Amino acid sequence: MKVGIVGAGFVGAAASNALVLRGIPTEIVLVDMDESRAAAEAADVAHVAPFGAPVRVAWGHTADLVGSRVVVLTAGSAQTPGQSRLDLVSSNASIVASVVPEVLRHAPDAILLVATNPVDVMTSVAERCASEAGVAAGRVFGTGTMLDTARFRQIMAAAIGVDVTHVHAYVVGEHGDSEVLVWSSVDIAGQAPAEFASAMGGAFTDEDRRRVEDEVVHAADAIIRGKGATYFGVAAVIARAVEVILRDRRSILTVSATSLDYGCALSLPRLVSGSGIVRELGVSVDEDEQQRLESSAAVLREHLLIV
Ligand code: NAD
Repeated sequence: MKVGIVGAGFVGAAASNALVLRGIPTEIVLVDMDESRAAAEAADVAHVAPFGAPVRVAWGHTADLVGSRVVVLTAGSAQTPGQSRLDLVSSNASIVASVVPEVLRHAPDAILLVATNPVDVMTSVAERCASEAGVAAGRVFGTGTMLDTARFRQIMAAAIGVDVTHVHAYVVGEHGDSEVLVWSSVDIAGQAPAEFASAMGGAFTDEDRRRVEDEVVHAADAIIRGKGATYFGVAAVIARAVEVILRDRRSILTVSATSLDYGCALSLPRLVSGSGIVRELGVSVDEDEQQRLESSAAVLREHLLIV
């Protein structure tokens, strides 16, 4: 099962590495306008196979994406310190708009997974190009708030002292500054955080909640300030989404896609199978969270006007 990755920068290379270590596809093709970077990253990641799984890793041109089940888009500029994801709209929109038709010309049956930021707006651009090429809705989606959801669960688990697999929690809306942490439906072994902490003989206060929220929302800024880019987290997200598609897992992921209810692409929990998004699921939110989700959608709709 072949996976294409367009954009062999930090994110594309780290995603290839995660895919090989986890043995998810049988073949990966890395494509980049910087051919020597693509060739070097492909050679480096190919040497991971003896420690992971026998995945063939090569670099190529868009024509070499033929037969890919999934093509991941990671081409485009990344944030620099002090920049928001939305600052990248115009430069990256033209890259996505030029890459998607080319990809679909060679791999018309591929599911497109967009990671390029601002991922919600880039997902809208990719959906529009794919629809012009006759691709059904649901076969194009963005990594959305999968990374933010992972950060929320991991930071909560560490704060409360429990295995992250028992923390169910979602971040919805924009993958960016207006994202919404759905505190009202956080569930740890069937209990709310304060209840669970108290059963453990401790406490989870409003101050703890503010601290967790601040760490989740500003996670990318902190990492970019320290090392210039984020890539391991999103690489794991890409590997997980590709796994769900290739193994037809029917998992619930907070991926980004156009929602008729909100009039833009944003993240909500969605059921994802081997054929892409099967269904958008409702999320149980309180009044304040609903209002923040609507504001997040309004921010995204405003940015759609410029692409
Ligand atoms: P990078 O600069 O290391 O790599 C980007 C690559 O894209 C470069 O190698 C460049 O040559 C290539 N590229 C540019 N235009 C191209 C084109 N038209 N065709 C083919 N290749 C092209 O950047 P990075 O750190 O890998 O980040 C890539 C993108 O992923 C950025 O937009 C970044 O913001 C985003 N990102 C998303 C998430 C997420 O959760 N969705 C997380 C981290 C980064």
